[in-house]
Amino acid sequence: MLHRSIAAAVAAGGTGAWFTPSATAAVEPVPAASGRPGRRYLIRNAAVLSMDAAVGDFPLADILVDGAKIAAVGPKLAAGDATVVDARGRIAIPGFIDTHHHQFETALRSFLADGLLANDGKPHGAVNYFDYILGKFARVYRPQDVQISELFGSLSQLDAGVTTVLDISQIHHSPEHSEAALAGLRAAGRRSVFGYFEGHGDKSRYPDDARRLRKQHFASDDQLVTMFMGGEIYLPGYEKAWQIGRELGLPIAAHIVGTLGMSDTFDKLAAAGRFGPDNLFIHMTGISDAGWKAVKDAGAGVSIAFPIEAVMRHGMPPILKAQAMGIEPSLSVDVECTMTADFFTQMRSAMMLQRALVNEMAIAGKTDLPALLTARDVLRFATIQGAKDLKLDRRTGSLTAGKEADIVLLDAQAINVAPLNHVPGAIVSLMERSNVDTVIVAGRIRKWRGRLLDVDLPRLRANLEASRDFLFKDAGVERDLFRR
Ligand SMILES: [Zn+2]
Repeated sequence: MLHRSIAAAVAAGGTGAWFTPSATAAVEPVPAASGRPGRRYLIRNAAVLSMDAAVGDFPLADILVDGAKIAAVGPKLAAGDATVVDARGRIAIPGFIDTHHHQFETALRSFLADGLLANDGKPHGAVNYFDYILGKFARVYRPQDVQISELFGSLSQLDAGVTTVLDISQIHHSPEHSEAALAGLRAAGRRSVFGYFEGHGDKSRYPDDARRLRKQHFASDDQLVTMFMGGEIYLPGYEKAWQIGRELGLPIAAHIVGTLGMSDTFDKLAAAGRFGPDNLFIHMTGISDAGWKAVKDAGAGVSIAFPIEAVMRHGMPPILKAQAMGIEPSLSVDVECTMTADFFTQMRSAMMLQRALVNEMAIAGKTDLPALLTARDVLRFATIQGAKDLKLDRRTGSLTAGKEADIVLLDAQAINVAPLNHVPGAIVSLMERSNVDTVIVAGRIRKWRGRLLDVDLPRLRANLEASRDFLFKDAGVERDLFRR
């Protein structure tokens, strides 16, 4: 009887409709000249996750964009003369912010999926990042190789809703290489922080050329591309880089991998009171309690690369330590030679790893436990905390009137997401880049209804492949598609 009633209900639902080809939906035209002064459009009826406690969340609300900025967020805004963008079935969030990415390596994607960071004398280290990526490939880069990898990597992350990056370009072999890195970032039209790090060879002008770059390209701090100084404490002469960075008013970023022997220098700098709110420390694996305390006291930022640190043996991603210190981390993509640069992977990895650690403590009988990370927590790491760590939170990181319009619309009606029952949960636990419907940077629409705008992808890909061919040949590395 039960079976018969189910069959009847299914029949009443109209099984035929499941197989009816849907008419090709007409794509609305993209609002013209978006991002230009005076151009207004209204994103209507999205589920809005603002990431700003003062703004709040809305099951259904509108976002008015005026030129480069968000003019208003709230339900039932008056459209006036603005073009209306129908966002029903979509979630609006601030664009994701990646606080550590080596985009010059885009041409080397997937090469080191199985590799470690270094040959650390322990098992498994034969194929590693230092020997292959920095020791072989990075040395042969020409300026044009830097430029195409920077551009392609930027566009790929834009397509995935990552509207801001700190690009750590350790490829400044000459001032021409620096110009190429900057040209690639700028051509993408994305919000980027140009991280001026070291280069290789006798034509490298790092760190002194920071003065020219600052003056020539970053005279004002309100541009789409801003600048950070690189100050790796494992390199001889890092003190000079820190001094130039502070002289020029540039924030200073550095990789801190205590497990590779950097903890003594870090402790020394901590004891000398050298840290400030202008520092961003990446990884922070294997660092002493005194080092962490100095970071907290200085108000410095911490960027954690959850998947990379776990896969490449940097050490356990230090999320529990950060939580214990009351430090919110931002998220690091790091290297696409080993791991994807999309932010759904970042957020899921953070949540999975932290919960594995805490759940194991609970199973072991401990009761005084850190809070479990939630979907909203990792979304905060991925947006507003990234903006804070890049000194851009007055301009981006949340959907707040007065900030620049870095907005992502996510498709909550897609087959892998519907029905929508919890907004942060749907984003973090279900979504991937195919759900990134529309991407807006400083008011300018860069991706519209699933398609990246103003990009000749076949031509760019051909340039990237030609660059890749050169890099493998000149580095003397075989491109073996099925290497074991
Ligand atoms: Zn890195």
